[in-house]
Amino acid sequence: MEDCIFCKILKGEMPSHAVYEDEHILAFLDIFPHTKGHTLVVPKKHGETVFDLDPHMREVLMSGVQKTMERIDSVLHPDGYNVGWNHGKDAGQVVPHLHVHIMPRWKGDGGGSMHSIIKNPGDEKPEEVAKLFM
Ligand code: AMP
Ligand code: ZN
Repeated sequence: MEDCIFCKILKGEMPSHAVYEDEHILAFLDIFPHTKGHTLVVPKKHGETVFDLDPHMREVLMSGVQKTMERIDSVLHPDGYNVGWNHGKDAGQVVPHLHVHIMPRWKGDGGGSMHSIIKNPGDEKPEEVAKLFM
């Protein structure tokens, strides 16, 4: 996509600091890192969310995330990771080109877990929500 900043990075029209690259994936350092080594894993084919990925790319992306983590692990030796993505504007997605955040974590770094993203479960109990899936 022409006006997509991540497509521009992928085409080499904007700079980035690569951490891992293969045929289908580029992983580069986030320009406004939340932790040391905060990395974005980006499919080379433009798509806004995981719903745009074909089955092959779903596997390739997961494998790219793991290979990128292995690379970060061997260079930075963090104590842990938070890994995930913001899906959709209302969930915090700003760049409309799918990207998986890898945030390396260190003991005592002051950060939280996935559970600190939101605590607003609504009034329905899990048992009631479960009925919607039957
Ligand atoms: P999200 O809110 O999940 O869409 O996150 C977008 C991420 O892209 C943010 O963490 C930004 O800091 C990062 N970002 C934006 N522009 C660039 C860039 N040119 N190079 C690297 N990271 C970027
Ligand atoms: Zn794009």
